[in-house]
Amino acid sequence: MKSKAFGIPLSIYNEMVQHGLEELPYEACGILSGRVRKAETIWKLENEKKSRNRYFVGEATVSAVLNKINGNGEMPIAIYHTHPAAEAIPSHIDIEFHPHPDVYMIIISYQQKTPVARCFFVAEKKYQELALRII
Ligand SMILES: [Zn+2]
Repeated sequence: MKSKAFGIPLSIYNEMVQHGLEELPYEACGILSGRVRKAETIWKLENEKKSRNRYFVGEATVSAVLNKINGNGEMPIAIYHTHPAAEAIPSHIDIEFHPHPDVYMIIISYQQKTPVARCFFVAEKKYQELALRII
């Protein structure tokens, strides 16, 4: 069982939560990159779908960001997206389109007054929660 924690510096965590707030009522999304199990850089992406329950980023945009991450000597560690009005639990679509098990899925829910962020390991159409540690 993969149960190691994933660490996010408070500044990046705050930026991620803020990004989600700014995009309400739509979903927001982005990538966290860094080195082994610790986020160091946040890449805010534009949800081209402008949807309340879906997000989409074009392939060209994603590969441009991946190139920059690579250029920084980092790796993509997690993809985050928000659930404006639902719990922070992966939907069937989230699981279906998750690109790779090595990349964690972070979901931030705005259903409650205080946003809730959770982190998941997704593989073979199943997910498992991982401790998200603000560092
Ligand atoms: Zn979702």
